[in-house]
Amino acid sequence: MAMIISRFGTPNTVYDWELITSVPSVIGNKADTNRRNGSTPFDYVTKIDPTYKNQATKISIARTILHEMLHAYMISHIDDVNSGNIVDIRKFIQLWQNIRNTTSPGGSSEAAQHEYMAQRFIPPLREALKEWDGASQSNQYYEDLAWGALFDTDTFKYFHPIGSVSRLRIMNINAAEDNNNISNGTSPKGTKC
Ligand SMILES: [Zn+2]
Repeated sequence: MAMIISRFGTPNTVYDWELITSVPSVIGNKADTNRRNGSTPFDYVTKIDPTYKNQATKISIARTILHEMLHAYMISHIDDVNSGNIVDIRKFIQLWQNIRNTTSPGGSSEAAQHEYMAQRFIPPLREALKEWDGASQSNQYYEDLAWGALFDTDTFKYFHPIGSVSRLRIMNINAAEDNNNISNGTSPKGTKC
């Protein structure tokens, strides 16, 4: 995570990432991340939905920001490759396999990115959330939150199949923190902004 932040936070870096409160391009999303104006390579904008931001707990918003940062990271790698810089391509080989399997030419690679996040980034997301939150809750809680917005991935369905206890627990914890509301008996542990 620190390496990813340094990609965007280093002075004079070619990668630019801006986080704003604004209605995402896809209505109903809590947030989304795209190239600026939909097309500018190396320049990314994450929009966090104002309604979501006003109701969610702080840890839910932290999770969403990390999730969107991973999108910006992956898109920046795709832009690298599109501009001929393939030094990191082996590191991202699974992402490219996912893109080949799920993305039509010129189509959005969001599903492929989500699969890659689910395959590779659950433990780093868990650790980042735990550190940010001062480790006041169980590892399970932070790992459950790390799955937020990844319920459509094959990886999630494999580890937490329909009907499983863990699937319900993960969905309820995320819903509780996203809405700062009790979800099927699960209360949010986080606090509001
Ligand atoms: Zn996403």
